Amino acid sequence: MNSCIFCKIIKKEIPARIVYEDKEILAFEDISPQAPIHILFIPKDHFASLNALPEEKQHVIGHIFTKAREIADEKGIKDRGYRIVLNTEKDSGQDVFHIHFHLFGGRQMTWPPG
Ligand code: AMP
Ligand code: ZN
Repeated sequence: MNSCIFCKIIKKEIPARIVYEDKEILAFEDISPQAPIHILFIPKDHFASLNALPEEKQHVIGHIFTKAREIADEKGIKDRGYRIVLNTEKDSGQDVFHIHFHLFGGRQMTWPPG
C-alpha cells in the first residue's frame, strides 16, 4: 500500500532498526518505545487490521508469535516475562493501519491496560 508507513519500512524506503526478517514477516524496534524492549512484528502483506486479515493468511499470526518468543529469548526476557499486544481499530487506540503486534518486555507490566 503506497501511503502505509510500515509498507515503506518493508520496502526499505524509510529506515528502521530491523530485528528479524524473512519472506513473510518483519520485526523492528518501535520508534517510541514504551518499555526497555519494544519490538513491532508485521506481516509483509498489507492488512489494515486484524479485521482485514483473511482466513487463508491466519497462519502468519502463529508465525509471528513463534518468532516473538524466540526474540524474547534472545533478548533475555523469555523467562521473566513479556507482553504481546494487538490493537484493533479505533477503541483500541490503533494508530498505524497495517496490522502489527507489539512485544514489550524488560520491566514489570501493570494490569488492566489503559
Ligand atoms: P498502534 O497504536 O498499535 O497502532 O501502534 C503504532 C506503533 O507504531 C506506535 O508504538 C509507534 O511508536 C510505532 N511507530 C510509528 N511509526 C514508526 C516508525 N517509523 N518506526 C517504528 N515504529 C513506529
Ligand atoms: Zn502497509
